[in-house]
Amino acid sequence: MGSKLKKGDFVIVISGKDKGKMGKILRVIPEKNRVIVEKVNLHYSHERANPQKGIQGGRLEKELPVHISNVMYYCTNCEKGVRVKIRVLADGRKARICGSCGKELD
Ligand SMILES: [Zn+2]
Repeated sequence: MGSKLKKGDFVIVISGKDKGKMGKILRVIPEKNRVIVEKVNLHYSHERANPQKGIQGGRLEKELPVHISNVMYYCTNCEKGVRVKIRVLADGRKARICGSCGKELD
């Protein structure tokens, strides 16, 4: 099953420890069916300062990928996570629409 989600999409997390969190997709990793979502699945690490390399040190946060089945497109019209459907337009172009209200998403 190919994902219909793209970089920049606004999604909501529907399961796991970050359930209910929303954020923008920063990166899609299609071969792993995963996405990296802004401020979701954060992993903290402590970095030692290294001025020569321009590293400030301190607590760093980094988003780890989440499986695509754990997020849904957030439709601002429906105000919930929705399934994305593809509609083929008269001129042959494909448009993504909200599977719930039919709003065009792109
Ligand atoms: Zn909708």
